[in-house]
Amino acid sequence: MTLGDAQAPGEQQMLGDLTPATLTMRPNLDWLIVCDHASNMVPSALEGLGLNERDARDHIAWDIGAAKVATIIAQRLNAPSILCNYSRLVIDCNRYPDADDASPAVSDDVRIPGNGALTTAQRRERAERIAHPYHRTIAAHLDHAMATGHIPIFLSIHSCTSTMAGRFRPWHIGLAHERDLRFTGPLLDTLRRQTEVPIGDNQPYDLELGGDFTTPEHAMTRGLAHMQVEFRNDLIADEKGVRHYADLLATAIKTVAADAAVMADCRKIRHYLRADDPVRYSYAPRPATC
Ligand SMILES: [Zn+2]
Repeated sequence: MTLGDAQAPGEQQMLGDLTPATLTMRPNLDWLIVCDHASNMVPSALEGLGLNERDARDHIAWDIGAAKVATIIAQRLNAPSILCNYSRLVIDCNRYPDADDASPAVSDDVRIPGNGALTTAQRRERAERIAHPYHRTIAAHLDHAMATGHIPIFLSIHSCTSTMAGRFRPWHIGLAHERDLRFTGPLLDTLRRQTEVPIGDNQPYDLELGGDFTTPEHAMTRGLAHMQVEFRNDLIADEKGVRHYADLLATAIKTVAADAAVMADCRKIRHYLRADDPVRYSYAPRPATC
């Protein structure tokens, strides 16, 4: 199955009416802000995936605080934002849709009853009704921006837990990258200059080609400069924290954006992917040199 395949004739659609993505247009097409794990909503047909209320609101379902931070950063840049409207437990839009962990049966030791015995058709419907439309929204927007003379910088906003496997994560903000440091490198330096809080360099996560979906498949395939950020979710769990950390990153982004030499490099299309990378060019044409 290719990513664009239509549903096979005769297969029942069980999920009802869905709105997978929210695109908020703003005039500055030089930036795009995306948030894969913005929502913990589950289509009503899936009956909450059988989760209790606490788990349905916990980090396994979404990136706590990330949608609000993404929106503030988009507002500060006057730039468009695209948010996914469904829980990553339905389908994780930062995973390849056919990956084993795209609709996990267990997440952070919590059993997800509604994902326990998924059929191929059910997995396909989630991909075709949620993941692909969300990603097509991103791709269509980037096509439009680039066709009108913009080389957008791609900003992907996430949040993560304060501990993992019993280990505390000291980093308040972590930037993940792979090879292309045109924007992330200066942003790391700026954040470390402008704030005392611990900033992670590929901590707690790096950017994994073939694992992470959104940044490689949309930004790297097109040769766009990018940033993938993780905020520690305990720090952005209330309005005060959201505003503080969104302002902190937005201020650093604007500082980097004021550096003409850095921006001249970021506003060029440069390809860092190699032919044998496990990236599929799902929504962007493969460059001739790759
Ligand atoms: Zn996330």
